[in-house]
Parts: sequence; structure tokens; C-alpha cells
Amino acid sequence: MKLQEYQAKRIFGQFGVPVPSGDVAATPAEARALAERIGGTVVVKSQVLVGGRGKAGGIKLAKSPAEAEEVAGRILGMDIKGLTVKKVLVDPAADIRQEIYLGMVLDRARRRVVVMASSEGGVDIEEVAAKTPEKIFTLAIDPFLGLREYQARDLAISIGLPKEQFAPFARICQGLYAAYMGCDANLAEINPLAVLGDGSLKALDGKMVLDDSALFRHADLAAMRDEDDETPEEREARLNGLSYVKLDGQIGCMVNGAGLAMATMDIIQFYGGMPANFLDVGGGAQAEKVAAALRIILSDPNVKAVLFNIFGGITRCDEVARGILKALKEMDRQVPMVVRLVGTNYEEGRAILAEAKMATAETLAEAAQKAVVAAAAANAAAAATTAAQGA
Ligand code: GDP
Ligand code: MN
Repeated sequence: MKLQEYQAKRIFGQFGVPVPSGDVAATPAEARALAERIGGTVVVKSQVLVGGRGKAGGIKLAKSPAEAEEVAGRILGMDIKGLTVKKVLVDPAADIRQEIYLGMVLDRARRRVVVMASSEGGVDIEEVAAKTPEKIFTLAIDPFLGLREYQARDLAISIGLPKEQFAPFARICQGLYAAYMGCDANLAEINPLAVLGDGSLKALDGKMVLDDSALFRHADLAAMRDEDDETPEEREARLNGLSYVKLDGQIGCMVNGAGLAMATMDIIQFYGGMPANFLDVGGGAQAEKVAAALRIILSDPNVKAVLFNIFGGITRCDEVARGILKALKEMDRQVPMVVRLVGTNYEEGRAILAEAKMATAETLAEAAQKAVVAAAAANAAAAATTAAQGA
């Protein structure tokens, strides 16, 4: 889960990282009131979950409250990389002398949190990595020892900071690491960490990605989720307790169990098809959950056929069959479907589907082949229609 800049900076601040004293506004009038309270020149920053807002025109300076109101009016509602700006952050403008990059990320291969720092901040770190990789310094943190002060000082020396900034820089590194660990983050980044005119350091931008699997122990953080953090389908899946990952193929898959879902996707590819998604309805899925899963699958316009592969254990096949029919009744989209049910109550399940004239299959291989053929036929029909329209 991604946090907005203002949320990330608030958290960094709670862990001792110096951050600007601004606040968020949802209307131009609120932005004006904030600018009045702050006094002097302010920076008005679009709050969207993408980087590169500066270049996209989503960050502007304003010299007076009236100008802040006017600028906020232009930025609010703006489209930045497909996302609509609903909030702006109003911060006191900073007198920037230098922009540094400081980030922490989980390196799965090394099984460590890795700190990265560079004197070339303010631009995308990917860009620095591509053009001047020698200007990025990294170090891995021992999970038992944590980030030691000498390590942070080493980084400060590497990126060429003067001696008087070693201690404040080390405190920022340790604060950021504490925030990262305390929030169960996957990524925490300050870009730019600015060296101001008076020589002090301040985190002008903040980015944080939290580990979704750990959110259950951070109710306060989970409540910060922005609706733009996920697509409507991902949201519906999460609220229904479904694991859903959209893919690029045309065969929608509904399966119970992650391993079985992976195997199902492999078999679809083996027979020449491409899965449109990974979807695990989990064990013991009730009709309601199955219906939600089917709604999610069919909301993807690329889906040309749907394959159900249900291994009944705790999950009852008759319950799944009822869920499928219930969902189909609610939906107006007609897509060929193949259902393979085995295990608990599968005879009842099949009888229910047979009555509704739905295609079933005995084995997974048969089901996958039927789904691949159905998707190919749908493609051929669509191509014929296009050709007929063109003629
Ligand atoms: P991003 O483009 O989405 O990463 O947004 P940032 O928050 O990093 O801002 C982009 C750039 O705007 C920074 O690198 C700075 O150069 C500039 N900027 C941000 N805040 C201020 C500020 O308070 N004063 C000035 N002068 N520039 C700022
Ligand atoms: Mn930035």
C-alpha cells in the first residue's frame, strides 16, 4: 500500500526526521488559509501516488495567500499520469542549496534492508542509476544490529557531505530506518533530502510503501489507504478476501488455492492460451464470494472465456455452482465458461450446472483445452466482425 507524500512525511516527522510544517488542503480556500497561517512563500504540491509531479506541473511556488489559492485552484482536479489531484500539500517554501537522495528498500536476494544515498537527489534515482551509477552508495543493514551510526556517517562521507552535517544526517538515516521498521514498510524514501541555505537538512519529499501483509497490525496506517492506491477490481477483491492479480491474457481463471491457481495458469499456457488473471477464492468459499470473484473477472474487457477449477475440500462444489449461477443472473456479459469441479459435493454441483446448461469438464486438461478453444473462437468471431465492418 502506497502512502501519499503528506502521510509519509508526517510519519517520518514522528520518527525524528526534520520535515516542513505544512498541511493538506482539498479546496483552494483551505490552501489560502494554510498559506496565511504559514506566512511567506509556500510551495503547493499535488498529492497523487506517482513520482515526477514537479515535471508534470503539479508543484508550484506561491508568494502570497491569494496566489496559493489561485495555484491550488489550478492544481486541484489536474490529471497527473492518469490520476486526478484531490488534495494539495501546502508547505513553507524551502531555500534549497543541494538535493540529496536517501532511500531504504527491502533487498530480497540479500535478505536485508538496503540503504541508498546519493548526492544527485531531486531526480528519479532510476535515472541516476542509469547515467551515473557510481554516484549511488548502498549498504545493507543487519536486522539484529539495526542501522549503526558509523554506517550512516560512512554514507555521509561517501556522498560528500561536510563534517558538520554528519550527525544530523545520521539521525535522519536512523529516524527513517525506525519509521521503516516501525511501520513494516517495503520502501521509505526521501527525495530530495535538501540541504537548506542555513546548512540544515530537511525532508522535502516523502514516499512510503507498506507491506500489505503486515497491515493487520497497523490499523491506523491501514485507515490511511487512498482510493487511488488500487483499481476498483483490486479493492473489491480485497474487501471480499480474494487474492486477485490482473494479467494480460484472455482466459479468466477462478480457482481455490494459490498452488492450484498457479498450476491452472500453467496448463492454460501449455494448451496455447494466456490467463487473464490469478484469482484464489480461498478455502470454504461461499456463493457470495464466488459471485464477487466472477464479477471481478468479467469486469476485465480482455476476458474472452472463463475457466473454473475448483477442488472441493472445505469448499463445497454445490455452493460454488450456486455462486456461479447467482453471479451470472446479475451480469449482462455473455462469455463462454467451462467449469471443472472435483471433491466435496461435486455431483450436486454438476447437476446444478447441467440444469443451467453450463459446460463442464472432467479433468483440468480437458477444461483448459475447452477454455482455450472458446477464447480462440471468440477472437475469430471478433476479427470476422471487424473485417465485415471494414468491407
Ligand atoms: P516529485 O517530482 O513528485 O518527486 O516531487 P518533489 O516533492 O520531489 O518535488 C520536485 C522538486 O520540486 C524538488 O526536487 C525541488 O527541486 C522542488 N521543490 C519541492 N519543494 C520545494 C520548495 O519548498 N522550494 C523549492 N524552491 N523547490 C521545491
Ligand atoms: Mn521527489
